[in-house]
Amino acid sequence: MRVIETVDEFRAATPVSDRPLGLVPTMGALHDGHMSLVSRARAENATLAVSIFVNPAQFSPMEDYDSYPRDMDADYAILDEAGVDLVLAPTTDEMYPAGSHTRVDVGSLSERLEGVSRPGHFVGVATVVTKLLSIVRPDTAYFGQKDAQQGLVIWRLNADLNLGAQIVLCPIVREADGLALSSRNAGLSADERQAATVLYKALSATGNMETGDAGQVRRRMRAIIEEEPLAALDYVSVANPQTLDELDVVTGPALALVAVRIGKTRLIDNMAIGSKA
Ligand code: AMP
Repeated sequence: MRVIETVDEFRAATPVSDRPLGLVPTMGALHDGHMSLVSRARAENATLAVSIFVNPAQFSPMEDYDSYPRDMDADYAILDEAGVDLVLAPTTDEMYPAGSHTRVDVGSLSERLEGVSRPGHFVGVATVVTKLLSIVRPDTAYFGQKDAQQGLVIWRLNADLNLGAQIVLCPIVREADGLALSSRNAGLSADERQAATVLYKALSATGNMETGDAGQVRRRMRAIIEEEPLAALDYVSVANPQTLDELDVVTGPALALVAVRIGKTRLIDNMAIGSKA
């Protein structure tokens, strides 16, 4: 496994790499959720690249950029073990050198849900993913359904900017009690960790509905979260899975989404609902 810290060195490595080339972008502090993407990508590609970059552009000044978990040595060991070929681990100055100014904004998709709670977040995500896809030029890039809105934003920018990657979304990996794996779970105290199961409980209360009143589902999810004293509700949503427009009635495939703050930790989760056709 080669760990590369500069863009120029990475760009020199890929033309001589076997194709297809897969990319798994991450912010490190790797867990089994990340590794599910890595193993799928390993199985589908001749060369596998993983990027580790905690992207300051997607954190607002009030957010947890400084305290975001980082453990590069452990990450390198896990990636080496998983058979990764190339790791791109640039510094912030390497990704955003002095004078860099261009930002990528995919528009309305980034302005709802996470975009309301985290203004500017998706401009940061879209900018860094555009840069990573341009640097690595993968045949396929792998992302998690855990960050459903992020997946839609990335699908949009890849299509709109003709970046030419295939975008694959992988299923959410959960703990035995349903909590979606997240690097941020490490910041939960024992009590908070217990309370964090409320996200999955709320999503499960949709009862895998096929059709029905979306407002009623939102009310049911909200009531479950409000029953948990350690949880502060940010949003619940039952939305069109492509546009994220809020639905009145579920008549086909839909997405239930929740965001909750537990102590200092903000957690998100989602579940596909509605009839599949
Ligand atoms: P992050 O390091 O949080 O930016 O995540 C890197 C990638 O891993 C993103 O595409 C996430 O959606 C994905 N990911 C994070 N947690 C999970 C999970 N529990 N299951 C599946 N994918 C995940």
